[in-house]
Amino acid sequence: MKNTSSKHKHMIEVIESELKYTRSMIGRDRFSPRVMEAMKKVPRDKFVPEDLKFLAFDNGPVPIGHGQTISQPYIVALMTDLLELEPDHVVLEVGTGSGYQTAILSQLCKQVYSIEVIADLSEAAEARFKNLGYSNIETRVGNGYQGWPEHAPYDGIIVTAAAAYIPEALKEQLKPGAKMVIPVGLPHMHQELMLVEKDRQGEINVSPILGVAFVPLVETPATDTNDTAH
Ligand code: SAH
Repeated sequence: MKNTSSKHKHMIEVIESELKYTRSMIGRDRFSPRVMEAMKKVPRDKFVPEDLKFLAFDNGPVPIGHGQTISQPYIVALMTDLLELEPDHVVLEVGTGSGYQTAILSQLCKQVYSIEVIADLSEAAEARFKNLGYSNIETRVGNGYQGWPEHAPYDGIIVTAAAAYIPEALKEQLKPGAKMVIPVGLPHMHQELMLVEKDRQGEINVSPILGVAFVPLVETPATDTNDTAH
């Protein structure tokens, strides 16, 4: 039986070898050393349910309850790398889920704001951040289609569920020169990971990166007046 640290090390090797197959699609054959450091540091086993810990370091999605999944590590690394984060950046994440992607982001920037529509998942993620000592994360229960205008504009936005279209509010909350990564497409249909860039003049450019399979970004009824920030 492999121990936790050798399984974690293997996960990193698998991400690096998967890059060989995808480099022509994603236009790069390596992720930044900062991103790979964060992937090495954040303990993925602390973000999956107790009975599925044996899957924690596999390069695949893992169910986290409520029909949701923690994303595949390779995709987490790719999406993070595409954002090209700097230590002074403020980032918005839509779809906190387990909080794993949030934790990776928190290693690479100044502050992460993360929205989750399912209160139970948001609370569980919040508890993990406290336990693990990640203090530059603020979470909120709400509908990510509207973004989080109070802290906008952002140096980067990441959406970890597939949207039917790129939400207007998220485009607005992006700083000029900043990037957003978002899977676009319908459930069980073709979805494409998109890189959305707002140029210095405020023009939006969208480039497809890779075919992906994400849970849907749900359009919840207008209950946002009951949103709670943690
Ligand atoms: N980044 C997460 C992935 C979770 S899956 C992780 O690393 O674990 C996507 C998450 O998006 C789910 O938890 C789902 O509940 C959430 N979600 C779906 N629609 C949403 C919406 N409109 N606003 C905010 N979160 C949403």
